[in-house]
Amino acid sequence: MDKLVVPQNTIEVLQKYQFRFQKKYGQNFLIDTGVLERIVRAARIGKEDCVLEIGPGIGTMTQYLAEDAREVIAVEIDKALIPILEDTLSAYENVTILNEDILKVDLRKLVEERNAGRPIKVVANLPYYITTPILMSLLERRIPLDSITVMVQKEVADRMRSGPGSKDYGALSLAVRYYAEPKLVGNVPPNCFLPRPTVGSAVIRLDCRKEPIAEVSDEKFLFAVIRASFNQRRKTLLNGLGNAPDLGLDKEKIGEALSQMGLSSSVRGETLTLEQFITLANKLKA
Ligand code: SAM
Repeated sequence: MDKLVVPQNTIEVLQKYQFRFQKKYGQNFLIDTGVLERIVRAARIGKEDCVLEIGPGIGTMTQYLAEDAREVIAVEIDKALIPILEDTLSAYENVTILNEDILKVDLRKLVEERNAGRPIKVVANLPYYITTPILMSLLERRIPLDSITVMVQKEVADRMRSGPGSKDYGALSLAVRYYAEPKLVGNVPPNCFLPRPTVGSAVIRLDCRKEPIAEVSDEKFLFAVIRASFNQRRKTLLNGLGNAPDLGLDKEKIGEALSQMGLSSSVRGETLTLEQFITLANKLKA
């Protein structure tokens, strides 16, 4: 089968099936060979790997993954794409296509059944309307993952990689760093997709941590503290946390914890590192 990433081949398949793009599913198909090869190289797939692809579209990236991996599971929500995928991927016996919403798939069970519970690799050109929920559900559910190599909006890639003091720093940056180490693979302009998205894109690789970055006494509480700290960005941490009803903390206790950490009572959440948030949450929980 010819490579679908070649624009002419993509157009031919779309015409053959009279496929109509669905905006609600974030369908922007990749039509740039160089970018696709870069993503697959960055994902470092080997013959022993089980790969999960989220949103295969017409199978452009799936073709490359199927050639490198032992097995590929491709989860696609749009049922109009299923007969197309069955056609474009018919030459590959190691691909399973599931017509499901990725947010509703029992991934833990899938990893257990398909890879004997060993970590899998996730590779995707993600639908932009649900990038953050997909990434957060992959990370928070503690599914055995080796790495996640994904195309996302450039702005989301910036938020995932930023640190204290940056305007992009927030709850997503901290959650990503807690579970993984993010690395930028490269930026991708809109003309590499059909149809062209209105925003710039970037490929990011997350190497999932095998061991926790630090000891956390209550993970749920840590993330509630982080969310409350960034809910009202302009407020001091003391006020942000003190006014968060779900935390039930009094300001005196917060002030005491900050002072023990050598931080001023007027410090803002956006200046704290992940390690400092962990220390603070552990102290507040104690
Ligand atoms: N991988 C293809 C490519 O690179 O050309 C398509 C990428 S396109 C940006 C995103 C794909 O995700 C679309 O095929 C879309 O139908 C699918 N999708 C959207 N929401 C989904 C969901 N909740 N679960 C699974 N697939 C989804």
